[in-house]
Amino acid sequence: MSSPATTSTADLPPELDDPLFRTALGQLDGALAFADVSPHAAEVLRYPERSLAVSVPVHMDDGSLSVFPGYRVQHSSVLGPTKGGIRYDLAVTLGECAALAMWMTWKCALLRLPYGGAKGGIRCDPRALSEHELEGLTRRFTADLLPVIGPQRDIPAPDMATNEQTMAWMMDTYSMQVGHAVPEIVTGKPLSVGGSVLRPEATGIGVVMVVEGAVARLGWKLEGAHCVVQGFGKVGAVAAHELAVRGARVIAVSDIHGGVFADDGLDLEELDRLHQAGGIAGAEGTRPLTNAEILELPCDVLVLAATERQVTEENAGRIAARLIAEGANGPTTLEADDILAERGITVLPDILTNAGGVAVSYFEWVQDIQRLFWTREEIRTRLADLMGHALDRVWTLSVEESLSLRSAALVRSIREVAGALETRGIYP
Ligand code: NAD
Repeated sequence: MSSPATTSTADLPPELDDPLFRTALGQLDGALAFADVSPHAAEVLRYPERSLAVSVPVHMDDGSLSVFPGYRVQHSSVLGPTKGGIRYDLAVTLGECAALAMWMTWKCALLRLPYGGAKGGIRCDPRALSEHELEGLTRRFTADLLPVIGPQRDIPAPDMATNEQTMAWMMDTYSMQVGHAVPEIVTGKPLSVGGSVLRPEATGIGVVMVVEGAVARLGWKLEGAHCVVQGFGKVGAVAAHELAVRGARVIAVSDIHGGVFADDGLDLEELDRLHQAGGIAGAEGTRPLTNAEILELPCDVLVLAATERQVTEENAGRIAARLIAEGANGPTTLEADDILAERGITVLPDILTNAGGVAVSYFEWVQDIQRLFWTREEIRTRLADLMGHALDRVWTLSVEESLSLRSAALVRSIREVAGALETRGIYP
């Protein structure tokens, strides 16, 4: 086994010195010890290939002008064009995008999609912006990204606080620049402009496919299992419904304002209605819980579908779930991972568990390029195949080499990307 020549995280360039990027690097270093890849490939994969920082001016509704910082980071184009979401959030930094871009590289490689990873976002409070301001922000950001995005270069998608409408504005802005419709420039679009059926639900469905496969391997059943879902957004709400469809009892869910609990199971349709109306707090027949409390509820399955760094050194000792499914990206810190492992709590890692979204994004891109669209059943079957094979590969390696599921997933991914990098060689 070759030992990779790695740069210490203490030597990080200042723009990458971010807690989330340190987590991503820490995970990479941990997995490199088992991946047996060349030191040169290991060193290249520690850094993003390209980062763009922009300042996005927007005419606000009150006549003032605001300028928002925006980023797009492309981690690796070794396996194909880069792919990853765009998020609008007050916590967006270049380092955060770099971490998320690296995880996208591993996620795509794990599913054997012909993509590398990217991520982008704008540092803003999306809830404080009107629809008109969001449109202006999105269109100008897209124009600023023109030098680095493209259907064969980098293909954005929705992420936190962005949605189908955001993607439609991006697609339109890009198409206006080139003079014809280019649906394959983004995924997660509305059906009317080349979106794919099942894309909106794909991440949540994929989360539950992985949970179901893991539960079967662990020798218990989802039926009757008590489940808690943190984050009732695009991923969490669908995951909650999919769990309920399989006979699980969803006892608590939360959004950014807090959580609701019902011992005999929540009325998810009612929560959908409240969510559409602005927030799930106060649902009839439920008890309120804080976001800290919801994470520590005794349950069989805890789905983390809100945001990063939710299970930390501080609360990992009090997590009372048997199985954690990472629907969000990076919800568990390195220290928390060790504590959970010591306590025998199985963690289904993000790069596997939430990969259903990028899988169906890939299907959307393929359908757009060939201008030929598949049915919901075809897509669900293809998704189940991809997720099932990835879970198999991860579980088998984890058992064979006594690795955590996270390390096994990372080792599989790193070997795919490093293998291609070694074959291509370093240019020039
Ligand atoms: P979203 O904006 O639709 O939903 C996020 C949910 O989490 C909302 O209910 C929000 O109120 C809640 N939330 C935010 N911060 C919180 C906090 N600190 N505590 C509790 N709740 C909080 O976003 P989404 O698309 O569902 O993404 C959620 C996570 O899943 C993110 O980490 C994202 O990167 C990841 N993810 C999303 C997709 C996708 O297809 N949408 C794919 C892969 C991974």
